[in-house]
Amino acid sequence: MTGIGESYARFAADARNVLDPARLKRSEPLAPYTTFRIGGPADLLYDATSVEDLAEAVLLARASGVPYFVLGLGANVLVGDQGFRGLVIRNCARAFSFDGTRLRAESGAIVRDLIFAAVRQGLSGIEHYVGIPSTVGGAVWQNLHFLAPAPARERTMFIEEVFESCELLTEDGTRRTVDREFMRFGYDTSVLHGHRHVALAATFSLTPADPAILQRTLQENLSWRGSRHPWLELYPSVGSIFKKIEGVGAGRLIDQCGLKGYRVGDAQISYVHANIIVNLGTATASDVCAVIRHAQTLVRERTGQELQPEISFIGEF
Ligand SMILES: Cc1cc2nc3c(=O)[nH]c(=O)nc-3n(C[C@H](O)[C@H](O)[C@H](O)COP(=O)(O)OP(=O)(O)OC[C@H]3O[C@@H](n4cnc5c(N)ncnc54)[C@H](O)[C@@H]3O)c2cc1C
Repeated sequence: MTGIGESYARFAADARNVLDPARLKRSEPLAPYTTFRIGGPADLLYDATSVEDLAEAVLLARASGVPYFVLGLGANVLVGDQGFRGLVIRNCARAFSFDGTRLRAESGAIVRDLIFAAVRQGLSGIEHYVGIPSTVGGAVWQNLHFLAPAPARERTMFIEEVFESCELLTEDGTRRTVDREFMRFGYDTSVLHGHRHVALAATFSLTPADPAILQRTLQENLSWRGSRHPWLELYPSVGSIFKKIEGVGAGRLIDQCGLKGYRVGDAQISYVHANIIVNLGTATASDVCAVIRHAQTLVRERTGQELQPEISFIGEF
């Protein structure tokens, strides 16, 4: 046995005493674990159900030389049709608790669950992100953001505004609590992009507010989103495909090029929002990539602007 086979054997031997074998699957299709519903199988998939479990799985993968990838809700990734040669660690560490106005959440906690719990407690700060599929880890990874509707709050809000600290499993294998400065948040980015740190848990600082006002914000934002985005339940997607282009708008450029409705296989540029590609049923990653390339080429030729994907491409295409 050589190469990855050897690494898998070492991983399996070491994992026996540490990870729950019932939660380790082989040749598991990844499409159901992504909001795009696209992607071939991972050689190994492990459901980590606590921060300790997540840290152990990452450390074992690193020690045995198995390539690994931490997956949240899969709302910002395109998995290749050939899948992923290695271990996908699905982050199901979902516990969270409140201490006064402070919210501490494991990194697999689902932002929607945090929002509804916070609103019930009369705590404000994360309600703006309602309707956006994300775990805490995914939110921190790319500094989750939301352009609030006009006229009252027309500005982009970022999760870093309520972020207090994060417990990381650093790339050198230590567990360390870091502050906002360490995270180097930016638009669609954080320190996690350039390093192999894994977010284990995060703490957010919220503010007391009237639950009735929070409820109103939830409903306004949900209806704003519902009227401007294709419905995820009917049209699987990963939200915006391309990075924002300051002052221009990637979606606007795509729309100007007449690309709404452009389709390869079952991957289509949404008629509702030109920066979103939807899966009409059986789209493959290769269909999506063909649509991406076509949009990039046409926009470059017609406007001189470069469209850059903001999503992560995982595995073999
Ligand atoms: C319908 C729709 C609407 C959307 N609207 C918005 C929007 O308005 N604003 C916005 O900002 N985004 C939006 N998105 C994108 C998406 O919701 C966010 O990027 C979200 O934060 C992804 O979270 P996730 O848990 O699904 O991460 P995943 O997609 O699973 O992972 C994304 C990246 O984060 C890394 N990662 C995940 N967890 C960890 C961890 N614990 N430690 C280290 N790295 C980790 C992964 O390895 C991967 O590289 C939208 C997506 C959809 C489908």
